[in-house]
Amino acid sequence: MPISVIIVPCLADNYAYLIKCEETGHTSVVDVPDADPISYMLTKLGWKLNTILITHHHSDHIDGVDKLRKLTGAKVIGARSDAYRLPALDIPVVSGDIIKIGSHHSEILDTPGHTIGHISYYFRNAKKIFTGDSLMSLGCGRLFEGTHKVMWETLKTFLELPADTMVYSGHEYSNSNAKFAISVDPSNQRLKERYKEIQNLLKNGKYTVPTSLELEFLINPFLRSAQPEFKNKLNMGQKTDEEVFKFLRTQKDNF
Ligand SMILES: [Zn+2]
Repeated sequence: MPISVIIVPCLADNYAYLIKCEETGHTSVVDVPDADPISYMLTKLGWKLNTILITHHHSDHIDGVDKLRKLTGAKVIGARSDAYRLPALDIPVVSGDIIKIGSHHSEILDTPGHTIGHISYYFRNAKKIFTGDSLMSLGCGRLFEGTHKVMWETLKTFLELPADTMVYSGHEYSNSNAKFAISVDPSNQRLKERYKEIQNLLKNGKYTVPTSLELEFLINPFLRSAQPEFKNKLNMGQKTDEEVFKFLRTQKDNF
């Protein structure tokens, strides 16, 4: 039986995701920027929330956790290493742990860089990953706490996943990310097509998430830091993958 995912836009540009196991009815939410739109959506769908999955400690991902927990009685899951700065955790987890979401399993992947202690939730059988602010559509999170080396290692974790994995990230940043991607890779036809697609989706009030890893491998500059032809385009053929990533991330910070 599949899992259903409902996208819940919150605050200015955050996304929360409701995940329901269709076999058992078990329902989770990834991140709680604001309890109200999530609780409204749960009521509208007639779903009962069982677990809250936190990706990282930034306030725009956790501010609604305590209110939603009170409203629903859901158990809260998050990184043990960040427990001191997260809402009280019912189930602290570490990298490699597997949690049960109804009849599905989610693997906890350590994905630091944006923050230390950032985790992602990987549903291998359902081919979905919830990446918070680590991997974004056409981008990656800003480095608030990790080094370039740490974030590059995280991106390599994503590069190892099957290409048909769908990526659900924490923000709607595709438009500005696409502009930067085009600035460093102006001859990439697939990227230009995607940019048009993104503009059309947004114009029609639709979301640009999820995206597939297969597509991101072709157009996300950060994920492409190790691709020889892309390195050559940047005149960085002799540089290490990490140096290319550092160059791109620094360019984006000043874009
Ligand atoms: Zn963040």
